[in-house]
Amino acid sequence: MDTQEACPKCGAPLDAISETPTGRKLQRCSKNIWNAEARKSEGCDYVKWIAVEPQTLDEACPKCGAALVLQVTRFGKKMKKCSKGGWDKETKKSTGCDYVEWINGATEPLDEACPECDKPLVLFTTNSGKRMKKCSTSGWDRASRTATGCTYVEWLK
Ligand SMILES: [Zn+2]
Ligand SMILES: [Zn+2]
Ligand SMILES: [Zn+2]
Repeated sequence: MDTQEACPKCGAPLDAISETPTGRKLQRCSKNIWNAEARKSEGCDYVKWIAVEPQTLDEACPKCGAALVLQVTRFGKKMKKCSKGGWDKETKKSTGCDYVEWINGATEPLDEACPECDKPLVLFTTNSGKRMKKCSTSGWDRASRTATGCTYVEWLK
């Protein structure tokens, strides 16, 4: 990793690479200072986003058997895709295997009971980083494309 890189805005060295909660990597200017009291950053606002290299997974593509790779989009969404899949820039068409599996946000069990059915609640973080409390009995039936179980949801700010 080249941390000696200079900020194109002010010439100061860039900080070490850090990672956002959504898995995106970035490097800030070392002249960027977080003011905890004012809850804002001060100084140089240059941020360099780093392309996250796809990570090869120890899983085989259910369509063609090739290795799957984990990829993070520009918006922090995660997906597993087939390493044989590609994109032809000239024809603007995908090439090879088109298997893609989006990874849903993370759930954490909570020490709270659902006000509707008394089952435990879970904290769900969406791919875009929004958080909600939902009932642990809720689910999604892929075949019929309908929600199952308790529908209690409380979005957190
Ligand atoms: Zn700078
Ligand atoms: Zn495949
Ligand atoms: Zn419930």
